[in-house]
Amino acid sequence: MSSAQLLVSPGAIDMGGLLILPREEDYFRITPETIQQIYDEVSITFEDQEVIGQRLKDGFSLSGLRQMEKPFSCQPLVTVGIVSGNELHLVLNKPYMAKGKTVNGAQTVSYSEGGILWNGNHYHELTFQPPATDASFTLDDVTIGIDFHWERKETQTFPGTLRLVVDGERILAINELPVEKYLESVISSEMRATSSLELLKAHAIISRSWLLAQMLKRRSEDDETRDHFSFVRRDDELIRWYDHEDHTLFDVCADDHCQRYQGITKAASSHVAEAVRTTRGQVLMSEGEICDARFSKCCGGVSEEYQFCWEDTPKPYLIAVRDADERAVPNLQNEENALRWIRSEPTAFCNTQDKEVLLQVLNDYDQETADFYRWHVHYTQEELSTLIQQKTKMDFGCIVDLIPLERGKSGRISRLKIVGTKRSFIIGKELEIRRTLSETHLYSSAFVVEKSHFETGIPQQFDIHGAGWGHGVGLCQIGAAVMGADGYRYDEILLHYYRGATINKLYK
Ligand SMILES: [Zn+2]
Ligand SMILES: [Zn+2]
Repeated sequence: MSSAQLLVSPGAIDMGGLLILPREEDYFRITPETIQQIYDEVSITFEDQEVIGQRLKDGFSLSGLRQMEKPFSCQPLVTVGIVSGNELHLVLNKPYMAKGKTVNGAQTVSYSEGGILWNGNHYHELTFQPPATDASFTLDDVTIGIDFHWERKETQTFPGTLRLVVDGERILAINELPVEKYLESVISSEMRATSSLELLKAHAIISRSWLLAQMLKRRSEDDETRDHFSFVRRDDELIRWYDHEDHTLFDVCADDHCQRYQGITKAASSHVAEAVRTTRGQVLMSEGEICDARFSKCCGGVSEEYQFCWEDTPKPYLIAVRDADERAVPNLQNEENALRWIRSEPTAFCNTQDKEVLLQVLNDYDQETADFYRWHVHYTQEELSTLIQQKTKMDFGCIVDLIPLERGKSGRISRLKIVGTKRSFIIGKELEIRRTLSETHLYSSAFVVEKSHFETGIPQQFDIHGAGWGHGVGLCQIGAAVMGADGYRYDEILLHYYRGATINKLYK
């Protein structure tokens, strides 16, 4: 130890007010200024103390660790990955705390030598804590709609804490905020403010269920649930399904991959705020677990079961439901029944042309193309064989037939045999089928194929008649919007689609 250093007993500092110096020479050297420096170094500032006090008062839990011991006994904080870059420009709109200092205004952080460079110092991790709950920060150049045709950069404002961590050779900005505040923001950007309050409440519970289940899954470190096979490949068959990939450095991202989150850039609608507030802490549960509350645009009259779209693990609350007041579900796994069902227009909540209701669910709804309940696509032999060859990278020759080998309970095909003059091949599940038979994707895999204009036994025209939009599992968004407009309560809407589930309040 150099002569400039002092030896003090660390335990004594914990107790506060008493400083024990084991070496006599230190006792004679120490000054009030040095003692002040020691305390500054090892204790929190008055401002930090305020932050912690405020957080305890608000009932926020302080760390993910504590949440693990007793999941969600109070409102948890969610971490949202916002943006990453070599250099980030941000503005603190109120005083924030970082590295023991109060900071405000414009800040620049950049990636440097494996760390974060800020105000001339390198950090491994940098957190800006808001002392007040109304504090916010603004980030430049946040990309929204990543990899979609509407991708653009925007300046966005976020409430709560900003954490900066190193991710590869970039700095990643993570926003940490209370779950309920996050939900207000995502539901405001997903749903129209003109939606019925009951529909918004149902949606709030679905979003909350999805979010909390996602947070629990990430924190449980149970890799078995994460690491499942998502395809089966044989010489003559490819059965594949696409599920949500989890993030590792944060709970959810701010893009459509999870739920689009734009912070408080746009004010939350008061209708949405009310829906979130009145359902605070409520989630869908089944057998002691938060439900995997899937939803899609339009079921087509009967909702699909989980295992026909994703892995073969049926969920008790994701069973086929007739989307109407009547309860009897027709057997649509039978080919003749499926044909009759898809080529007719049975009554259903989602069988609607009500523009006011459709506008609540369909963001860019075009009145001319409201053909999702029953739809039709036409291909010539050349169009279809070219398309399938492009999509599968296999040469089938001419397409002779498309044969459904298995249908789910909603009539959606989960295994389809493509028969060509040169070869045959089986594909599944629903999304793989929808992508293979369209430049983008078909509305759904609940379809029947009509072949015509045969030349030497080979059909020259194909008419695909289909039902519904999306995978059809869980809540039918258009059906739910109709139910909300018809005066059904949010719990009636949810329990219509998630049969046997319960709505539980996880925290106050
Ligand atoms: Zn994501
Ligand atoms: Zn429906």
